[in-house]
Amino acid sequence: MRIQDIHRQLADLGAKPLHIGRIDRAWLRGLPLDTGTRNQRAQDFLPLSVRGGLPALSTTLDGLARLRSEHPAADGSARLLVALADGQTVESVLLPRDGLCVSTQVGCAVGCVFCMTGKSGLLRQVGSAEIVAQVALARRFRPVKKVVFMGMGEPAHNLDNVLEAIDLLGSEGGIGHKNLVFSTVGDPRVFERLPQERIKPALALSLHSTRADLRQRLLPRAPRIDPEELVELGETYARRFGYPIQYQWTLLAGINDSQEEMDGILRLLKGKFAVMNLIPYNSHEGDTYQRPEGARIVEMVRYLHSRGVLTKVRNSAGQDIDGGCGQLRARAQDGASLPQKAPRLIGRSTA
Ligand code: SF4
Repeated sequence: MRIQDIHRQLADLGAKPLHIGRIDRAWLRGLPLDTGTRNQRAQDFLPLSVRGGLPALSTTLDGLARLRSEHPAADGSARLLVALADGQTVESVLLPRDGLCVSTQVGCAVGCVFCMTGKSGLLRQVGSAEIVAQVALARRFRPVKKVVFMGMGEPAHNLDNVLEAIDLLGSEGGIGHKNLVFSTVGDPRVFERLPQERIKPALALSLHSTRADLRQRLLPRAPRIDPEELVELGETYARRFGYPIQYQWTLLAGINDSQEEMDGILRLLKGKFAVMNLIPYNSHEGDTYQRPEGARIVEMVRYLHSRGVLTKVRNSAGQDIDGGCGQLRARAQDGASLPQKAPRLIGRSTA
C-alpha cells in the first residue's frame, strides 16, 4: 500500500490537507489517529465524516506492519521480524542512539554474495505506507530520530515508494533530513532523482571493492558503474547538499582486505567529503566467507585514517542474535526456532 492511497481514502471522507497532516503525525508517532493536541481535541478539529472513518483506517494501518518477534542484542540494538498485511515478513532493526533500519523490499534482486537477503531474489516491493509503518511500529517502543534504508532490499529498485516514504518521514514524521539515510549499491536513477526531491536524504554507497571486476563478482546484479565513477557521483551529491557520503565496505578476509584495496580506497577517497565504514563480515561456521582477524582490521583502520580517509569500523547491529540482514526471515521461513534473548524491549515508553 502507498501513502497516496491512504491520503486518497482520507480525502474521500472529506479530509482537507490540514486534517491529513494531523492524522499522519499521530500515525507516525505511533499514537491513535484521533490524537488531538494540547490545545485542540480531535472532535474540535476533524470533521465528523473523517472521525467516523478513522477506526477502519486505524485497523488497516495497524495491519501494514505487525511485530512477529523481537530479538534484543547485547549492543543495545534489537532486530524485529515484521509481518506485512499479506503475511510476508521483513526485518527492521532498532539501533542504538534512536536509530531504525527499515526494509524496502521483500528479498532483493542484487544478489550480493555475502547477503542472506540476496539469496531469495526479489519477492515483492514494500509499499511506501509499509515502509513508514515500520517507523510507526518502532516508535511504539522507542524514540526514532534517525531512519536508515539499509534493511532488506535495494532502495534504488523501489525508488518511488522509498522517496514517498522519505518525503513523509522528513516532513510530518519530524526526522531531520540528514538523519534519513538512503543506502544503495549505486544506480544512475538515484543521482537523477534525489536532487529533485523536496527532502534530500544523506547517502550511503555500498562500495565493497575498488576493483570493477571484483565488485561485479561480489554484487552480481548491481548496475555497472565503475568505482571511480560512483565516487565522483557521490562526491557531487555530497558537496551539493552538504552531507558526507558514507561508503560501506563489508570486509571479507582474503577477498577485499588486501593492501591493494587499501591503496585503492586512498586513491578514490582521499580528499573526498566521505566516511569509510568498514563492516567486518558476520561469519558463521562453515561459511564461504570469513571476517578478517581483529588485528588486521585495526591495521586497516589506522592505515586509512592516518593517510586522510576518515574510517570507522561498524559492526552489523545485533551480531550475537544471528544478526546478518535477512537471517531472521530466512529462519522463520524454514520453520527453525528464532533466537530470543532477554531482556524484552517491548513495553517501554512511547516516542
Ligand atoms: S546487501 Fe543489500 S543490495 Fe546486496 S543483496 Fe543484500 S539487501 Fe540486496
